[in-house]
Amino acid sequence: MSEYDNQAGVAERVIRDLALSQAVAETCSILLDLISTDDAIKAELGRKFEPALSDLVRIEIAPIDEEFGAFSIAEGEVRLNEVEVARLIAYVLDDMKSQLGDNLICITKDDVRETLEEAVSLFALHELRHRTQGVQEFSTVQLLKAIDGRARIATFDIQADRDAAVALAATKAKSTSSAEFHDAYQRALFYSIQYFFRIYPANAKRPDKVCRVAALMFMLARLEIYRKLGHLQIGGSKTALSVSISGDKRSLAVFENEPEQRLLCASNDVNDLPLFVANIEEGNLDEALGQAFLIVTSIGLN
Ligand SMILES: [Zn+2]
Repeated sequence: MSEYDNQAGVAERVIRDLALSQAVAETCSILLDLISTDDAIKAELGRKFEPALSDLVRIEIAPIDEEFGAFSIAEGEVRLNEVEVARLIAYVLDDMKSQLGDNLICITKDDVRETLEEAVSLFALHELRHRTQGVQEFSTVQLLKAIDGRARIATFDIQADRDAAVALAATKAKSTSSAEFHDAYQRALFYSIQYFFRIYPANAKRPDKVCRVAALMFMLARLEIYRKLGHLQIGGSKTALSVSISGDKRSLAVFENEPEQRLLCASNDVNDLPLFVANIEEGNLDEALGQAFLIVTSIGLN
C-alpha cells in the first residue's frame, strides 16, 4: 500500500469521526444568518451566496458519480465528493505532521479539528459559489471549456476562491474590518494555495492553473502588505485578481476583477518570473510564495 493510500484510508475514518459535514452545514447556516442580519455582509456576499445556500436541506460527504466532479446537488441535498475531501484531509494532516516534525509550532487536537473544518468548509463554499456563477454543473464546465478554453473557468475559480475565503472569514469574525477577519481570510487564502492545488495540481501543461495559483499568491502577498502598511498603492486589499503570463514567462499582466475588470499593472522582463512559474509548475509552492512577495513589490502591485 502506498503512503497516499494509507493516508487516504486514515482520512476516510477521520471524516466519519469528525462529522465534518455538520461543520460545513454549520458554516453555511452562520453565513445565511449573517447575510440576513448584517447589512455590510449582505452587500458583500448576499447575491453571491444567499441563492446558493437558502434551499439547502442537507450536506454530506459521500461517494458521487464521476459525471458530477467534486460536488453534486439535487433537491437541496449537497454531496461533496468523498474522494476529494479525503485527499484534502490527508494533505492537511500531512502538513500539520511535518510542522510538528520540524517543531515549528505546538498543535493541539482542537487545532487539527479546526483546520480540517475550515479547509473542508472552504472547499464546500467554493463549490457552492459556482451555483450563483451559473457554472455549478460539471457538464456545463466541460462544455464551457470546449467553447471558450480554460481561461474563463480559471477566472470563475479565482472569484470563487476569493468569495469562499471572505465568506468563511466572515463566519469567524465580528466584523469584516477586524483583525480576526483578516487573520481568517489570510488563513483561507493560504489553505486554497497550500491544499487545493495539491488535490488539483498545476503543471507546465496547465497555464490556466499556474495563473490561478499566481493570482492567489499575489492576493495573499497584497493582503499582508496592506495589513502591515494600512494601505496599497493600487486596487482593493481583498478583491480577486486575474493574472496573465506571456508564453516566454518574462512578462505578466495583473487585473482586478471587481467591481469591474481593470488592469492594475503590466510588466516586462520581470526578473523572478521564470523561476516563480517553474516553482508553481513543479509544486514548490513555499518557494513560489516567497517569490510572489518579491514580484508584487518589484512590479508596483503593492
Ligand atoms: Zn471551482
